[in-house]
Amino acid sequence: MTAGADGPQRTDARGARRSASASAVLRAVLDDGPIARSTVARRTGLSAAAVTGHTAELMQRGLLRELSEAEPRRSVGRPHVPVDLDTGRHVAGALHLAVHHATVALLDVRGNVLVQHEEPHDGLAAEDLLARAAEILDDLLLGHAPDREPLGLGVATGGWVDRASGTVVDHPLLGWRDVPVRDLLAASTGLTVAVDGHARSLVHAEQLFGHPRARDSVVQLFTGNVVDAAFATGGAVHHGPRSAAGAVAHLPVDDSTEACRCGRTGCLEATVSEATLARKAAESGLIARPDFPELLALATRGDSAAVRMFHDRARLIGQAAALLLDVLNPAVLVVVDRSIAGVPGCLPAIRDEVRARSRGLDTAETVVGTSFPGTELATAGGAVLLDLLYDDPLGPLLTELSHTSLIGTA
Ligand SMILES: [Zn+2]
Repeated sequence: MTAGADGPQRTDARGARRSASASAVLRAVLDDGPIARSTVARRTGLSAAAVTGHTAELMQRGLLRELSEAEPRRSVGRPHVPVDLDTGRHVAGALHLAVHHATVALLDVRGNVLVQHEEPHDGLAAEDLLARAAEILDDLLLGHAPDREPLGLGVATGGWVDRASGTVVDHPLLGWRDVPVRDLLAASTGLTVAVDGHARSLVHAEQLFGHPRARDSVVQLFTGNVVDAAFATGGAVHHGPRSAAGAVAHLPVDDSTEACRCGRTGCLEATVSEATLARKAAESGLIARPDFPELLALATRGDSAAVRMFHDRARLIGQAAALLLDVLNPAVLVVVDRSIAGVPGCLPAIRDEVRARSRGLDTAETVVGTSFPGTELATAGGAVLLDLLYDDPLGPLLTELSHTSLIGTA
């Protein structure tokens, strides 16, 4: 770089440091709030003055609040007055696009799902589905968060998602190719929109709001109709060129002759997907038609044939989990699968298979279910946006927001 670029560069470096410390303060409060500023300083290694400054900025942005009610306040900003997240000011919109239904939801800045709505969308074209989702979001904001300021909309979906351009590059099960999801939704909602693959989004969610060890390193294995994975280490999710990482759909599994859309047999997704399991259950007469929620309900009620199907499938999922564990050796591997919460024995069956195949792991420690059972899809969508917020709480997300509101009220 030339000497002339030195000035702005130094300013950028200072800005980056300021963002990083503000992010550390916000995360410390997320983890341990309500918390005194002096404790935040100890936890983050920042000076008391820096913590006081960032706390003031974050309060100004409506992300933090003082818990002054606990004791009579003698002066503003006293270091021992605890601060906590301000969960009442903002709201994050969330959209998760699954193969048969869309989940639209609102989350607070702590990642709690305030409300979620499931919308079946079979047969809807991409543009129509996204327009419908924008309408539902609008209804939820009006009905459930009329006094909160929307931070934006996070969108998560399976398939190949290019986060940088906000495009679903290829989602064969939805039949989507190069759909500019971010631009379409930004135009219809007027909000800041961020889009990412859902396995990566769930990694962000675990790191922010879920499993403490996920911050060291984590593999997320998602097994729904889409089967995909994501990997993160030291807080950073690996994307790879055009965010193509994590495609484990065609990983071969033993003892499967299931035909795959790729032309081969025995691929992981084709073998363990919800659609395959439902189809097999219908073929064997266990359920009248291939309906996964019905099969899941049957197994949850303890029907032994249905439970057996889920346990067989859990062992196949365990094969893939063992392979991922051996290759990546994460502190924790999170399996996101709808059967784990409802069908007893599924998680133990996955762990047994991992133990049989992987070298000397404490599988009960390492292989866990999602931290968000029942709200994992909504949380995935919301985490796409909230991750940006926690990464750079003084950054463009809120700046853009205030800018938009200024234009809106002008
Ligand atoms: Zn395949």
